[in-house]
Amino acid sequence: AAAPVAGEKKVLLAAPRGYCAGVDRAVIAVEKALEHYGPPVYVRKQIVHNLHVVATLEAKGAIFVDETDQVPEGALVVFSAHGVSPAVVKSAEDRGLRTIDATCPLVTKVHKEAQRFARDDFDILLIGHEGHEEVEGTAGEAPDHIQIVNGPEDVDKVQVRDPDRLIWLSQTTLSVDETMLTVNLLRERFPTLQDPPSDDICYATSNRQAAIKKIAPQTDLVIVVGSANSSNSIRLVEVALEYGAKASYRVDFANEVDESWFEGVTTVGVSSGASVPENLVQDVLRLLAEYGYGDVEEVVTAEEDIIFSLPKEIRAALKAMG
Ligand code: SF4
Repeated sequence: AAAPVAGEKKVLLAAPRGYCAGVDRAVIAVEKALEHYGPPVYVRKQIVHNLHVVATLEAKGAIFVDETDQVPEGALVVFSAHGVSPAVVKSAEDRGLRTIDATCPLVTKVHKEAQRFARDDFDILLIGHEGHEEVEGTAGEAPDHIQIVNGPEDVDKVQVRDPDRLIWLSQTTLSVDETMLTVNLLRERFPTLQDPPSDDICYATSNRQAAIKKIAPQTDLVIVVGSANSSNSIRLVEVALEYGAKASYRVDFANEVDESWFEGVTTVGVSSGASVPENLVQDVLRLLAEYGYGDVEEVVTAEEDIIFSLPKEIRAALKAMG
């Protein structure tokens, strides 16, 4: 390939981007449930935080509800990748619902940590966004032991019973840098604060942020494909701006890309959140080519080969079919 000429329009495409193993598994779980049991299959909350994925599954017969009390008694309901609290599991049981748990195994890992440290009577500082489904689910494992810390601004409000029995855990899709800032501030107040047994921010979140950090300083504009309620997608926009992109925008679809963004722009960075199918990124790349940004260089900062087995309820159903 010819050496790039200064001032020539180009795209730096971040890799890894898009689907993580937990999203892939959750979406396939709903698809298999629809194939195996036939519609309707109810899903509590958006299976993953992406408008296109939700609309595609709706067209195949999935019905998305906010709570299990909206599911007819005896019907089949899938729990989303973000996980559920024990109270939700119980309410589904009480209504006689058949359930498929598509909680990402990396979210389940954090639930197990919460259970274990609550059992040992620790105060648990859960760093995460209040109101996010994952945080509600994790906090619901031990409401008496868990305090939610939204970020650095919450550190002064934290009250603990015994600083020697204190641990922090986190939501899986936070900014790695901001979380460490919060932890450092917490540790100034509580030097005996313990770290989680392993990273709670998942591999997909940290890999996508690392790729954005690599390309952002070389770009004038970074476009992140992802939905407004997708925590990890929003973090990618923030990280792009922190690491030197002059501008960064999130879009669900290529048709949201605004022509005015390209004024004076030579290099465009592109990435996508962990819940975003690759075809939506390809749509954006096609549009960029129309604007003259047809030269695409993929910048690879990590290889991902993680695959999770399907939820056990689906595996059992498929096995029974032979
Ligand atoms: Fe699991 Fe991470 Fe994907 Fe969330 S972003 S579903 S925790 S792999």
